[in-house]
Amino acid sequence: MDMHAPLIDPFARPITYLRVSVTDRCDFRCVYCMAEHMQFLPKADLLTLEELDRLCTAFIGLGVRKLRITGGEPLVRRGIMGFFRQVSRHLGDGLDELTLTTNGSQLTRHAAELAEIGVRRVNVSLDTLDPDKFAAITRWGRLPQVLDGIRAATAAGLRVKINAVALKGVNDSELFDLVRWCGDEDHDLTFIEVMPMGDLGEEDRLDQYWPLSDLRAQLAGRFTLTDLPERTGGPARYVRLEETGQKIGFITPLTHNFCESCNRVRVTCTGELFMCLGQEDNADLRAPLRASADDRALQETIRAAIARKPKGHDFDYSRQGIGGQMTRHMSHTGG
Ligand code: SAM
Ligand code: SF4
Repeated sequence: MDMHAPLIDPFARPITYLRVSVTDRCDFRCVYCMAEHMQFLPKADLLTLEELDRLCTAFIGLGVRKLRITGGEPLVRRGIMGFFRQVSRHLGDGLDELTLTTNGSQLTRHAAELAEIGVRRVNVSLDTLDPDKFAAITRWGRLPQVLDGIRAATAAGLRVKINAVALKGVNDSELFDLVRWCGDEDHDLTFIEVMPMGDLGEEDRLDQYWPLSDLRAQLAGRFTLTDLPERTGGPARYVRLEETGQKIGFITPLTHNFCESCNRVRVTCTGELFMCLGQEDNADLRAPLRASADDRALQETIRAAIARKPKGHDFDYSRQGIGGQMTRHMSHTGG
């Protein structure tokens, strides 16, 4: 087979988008994402920054055009800016976009350098503008630090998209404040439906579940919503608020079927390639990375895995409980 043939899965979906988790660690302990006292992986299990670079480079060689770095919190990994700089050599030469998802806590330190090496946009997770609620949700996070980080990113010329997890009884009362703030600050805003990740207690999870259909209906009560045709290959759908011109996204992995156009795969910080966020099947890329300095075995493993990419996920919130619940934490797979 042609070593450079692009990655196409069995359902004719080209794989052009890779999300890579570079650490399972984080300086926050968001309630929906981690237990307060997490057991983190031994350092030797993690891919080194050099291995991560080889891995990303191999995927780019196989047709990946968009790379999103995530975690854990990517910006707490030591040396991560050197990794960003390395990978940025592919921008304009195979890679169209290099981006990251962050909790924003380290952006004051790193925003200018990220912009300088060619990052154009960052996703910052921010569920509330209330300092007390923020501290309660993130356990260890402090809102002013994140707001400073967002301002630093904007000042550096980065576009900031805010991701907010919709949490019943937590930020439902703040819906319009969040929308207004994002409008004033010129940030796009996407709401994420809470997903059954990790073992954080089924009852709590169902308690927090705020369906985005309800959120959307509330928005429609105040604004004129126009559906936008934009598709990212992921679970996000967008509307425009006609009164303000704002774009609002909805990520509803549980209530919508977005799998037909899925163009993405994920790699964990230990080198497991997950072909679907909602399925357990994965391929170990660390072994071929470590077995040889030559990338042939790595590429073959990637191709064989893509050939098993499933048609779709199995998430389902039933009336009684949660079906398709994943045992791994979001910080492991990378959001
Ligand atoms: N630490 C970074 C951050 O918070 O943006 C990147 C990693 S975090 C796992 C990526 C995204 O996953 C965040 O927007 C977070 O809110 C979201 N997330 C974490 N656990 C989730 C869950 N159970 N359901 C839905 N989204 C979740
Ligand atoms: Fe850390 Fe992000 Fe998970 Fe919060 S959502 S605990 S910031 S990895």
